[in-house]
Amino acid sequence: MSTGMNVGAGKVGQPNTLHLSPEVQQKLLELQQKGIDINNFILESLQKREQEIAERKEEISKQILKREEEKFVKNFMKNSMENSAESSAWKSNERFPTKHIPISARKILHEEFGKKCSIKNCQKPSVQIHHIQRFFASQSHDPRYLAPLCKEHHELAHSADLAYHDIRRKTKQL
Ligand SMILES: [Zn+2]
Ligand SMILES: [Zn+2]
Repeated sequence: MSTGMNVGAGKVGQPNTLHLSPEVQQKLLELQQKGIDINNFILESLQKREQEIAERKEEISKQILKREEEKFVKNFMKNSMENSAESSAWKSNERFPTKHIPISARKILHEEFGKKCSIKNCQKPSVQIHHIQRFFASQSHDPRYLAPLCKEHHELAHSADLAYHDIRRKTKQL
């Protein structure tokens, strides 16, 4: 898929080694000694985490969409009163219900991806929250369609987007 040159080969620490603290090791050992399958236990915990994040993301997404819609309607009304010519609610920045990604969306993304790029196996720090393709249609900060990306993957995402959407050139929102 990519050149594979630097991807995943982080130089900081040893990214492919687990660092379990003595306390965690001790606790897992105790579970194991009780005859509990700790691999299964950890797997279940990880699945639970994923599920929980997905559910909260759904919830946050609903709230954000509701707020964006309210704001959009408000702007639309305001603009059509001020400027009956060609309703500017559909023009440029007016389409953005909010210019900034809501903190709730940022938080859940941080929880899901940590500080790293959201591309699988990419170890680089995320530098930008990217609006994935759907953004062109929805203009929304729905966290389900946001992806923290490293510099390289962000550039890649935009060069791919550009191929499909000339529209990008007009805005520098992202
Ligand atoms: Zn972007
Ligand atoms: Zn990346």
